Amino acid sequence: MRVVHGNRGFCSINNEAVLVEYLRRVHGVKKIAIVDTDVHHGDGTQDIFYHDPDVLFISFHQDGRTIYPGTGFTYELGGPGAYCSTINIPLPPGVTDSGLHYVMDNLISPILKDFEADFVVNSAGQDNHFTDPLGEMLITAQGYAQLTEKLKPDLAVLEGGYAIETALPMLI
Ligand SMILES: [Zn+2]
Repeated sequence: MRVVHGNRGFCSINNEAVLVEYLRRVHGVKKIAIVDTDVHHGDGTQDIFYHDPDVLFISFHQDGRTIYPGTGFTYELGGPGAYCSTINIPLPPGVTDSGLHYVMDNLISPILKDFEADFVVNSAGQDNHFTDPLGEMLITAQGYAQLTEKLKPDLAVLEGGYAIETALPMLI
């Protein structure tokens, strides 16, 4: 298991990184894609797999110039041995469902198709929701639902989401 030093931000243990290692060692899974749909850049996951060509990490998030942790720019593409296995899609505050689905249809889905992952994990943060107190995005619960339908993850892991009464219980 790899360790990225420092305990800060929102997470102490990266349970998805633990999952990836488990899938590899116990089940022999080779190619794993992690799609991070949380409003914050998935900096910890990116750091852990930055030099790993068998893990595709895609994160869309509110532009790091406007929100914590201030990373996740388009030029962060992975190390020399894993170039383009990290994909960052910073989005301006105020992106709506249609903007998000444009990115999904024209960038994320084609890259995922090319990679041919054996297992897809969705880091399913809900803090792009329009009522979230931390993010400044305008995604609806329905927009998230359609995103999940397109992504068809083998596993979705709940990450951020701070609108406890107005976003997380929503089904439509
Ligand atoms: Zn978040």
